[in-house]
Amino acid sequence: MRLVAHRLLLLLVALCGLALVVAPLMVADRYFAAPGAGRDYVLRIPLPAGGQLGLPPVEGPLDASRPLVVIDAGHGGHDPGAGAGALQEKAVTLALAEALRARLLADGGVRVALTRDADRFLLLPERAAIARELKADLFISIHADSATNPEAWGATLYTLSNRGSNEEAVRIAASENRADTVNGVALSGQSDAVSAILVDLSQRESAARAEEFARLVLREGAGKIDFRERSIQSAAFIVLKSADVPSVLFEAGYLSNPGDAARLASPEGREAFAEVTARAIRVHFARRLAPPPVALPAEPPAPSATPDPTGTGD
Ligand SMILES: [Zn+2]
Repeated sequence: MRLVAHRLLLLLVALCGLALVVAPLMVADRYFAAPGAGRDYVLRIPLPAGGQLGLPPVEGPLDASRPLVVIDAGHGGHDPGAGAGALQEKAVTLALAEALRARLLADGGVRVALTRDADRFLLLPERAAIARELKADLFISIHADSATNPEAWGATLYTLSNRGSNEEAVRIAASENRADTVNGVALSGQSDAVSAILVDLSQRESAARAEEFARLVLREGAGKIDFRERSIQSAAFIVLKSADVPSVLFEAGYLSNPGDAARLASPEGREAFAEVTARAIRVHFARRLAPPPVALPAEPPAPSATPDPTGTGD
């Protein structure tokens, strides 16, 4: 019995000694070790070298004074977006973006860049940052939605709001913003509060231009694209939080609706989307580039009854 007690005592002393050695190591690891050491998991996000974004090529006229449209095909890579099977949102949005680019380049006069021209993943803030770094005049993010109700249909134009205009807008914004989270961990690193301040400070004019453009799309699309709402909607889309580039989000239709899905998958449907959007873009820039109205001289005095002294009749 004494032998057992003795051994227990020895074991206790050894354990205390071990604890004295291990505890400082754990504390040091917690505070000084490389990120992730001692944690349950670590998220690694590859960033381009030098902190620079890989900027896409700008196509169209070489004249840098021509307006630049940045077209953003939503989702991509490991983020398929809505839809399923052959009709995944990331493929639909890329096809629409390419159709719009082709139409704009064929019409001429406007420079064009795509945030992605392949099946590639981009963080939401990266997309807006590309537009900002290229000093774009307009940013169009293209998406397609999906709903549990197969009867939900139609395209919708969105501009940014921090509140969200209705339940459906809030649902769609939450669904689109989810692309930047993994198990609820935000990858963008930009808090809503910071975004809100930035947006509030510098987006007023951009917001007005975005609204004007969205109204033009609705006008040009009348009879050619079926819109869910005949008015512009607004919701808190991260991808639209670019401080100084007028930005709109074009939900082109519901992939869960057979009619919309067929339209978006067909070359004719894509062409209608491209034609309507391109025409709205042309009108938008024509209005902006038009010279300011010249003040007209006062009405000339009414012709008097005195005969023309030159006799020429001029
Ligand atoms: Zn989407």
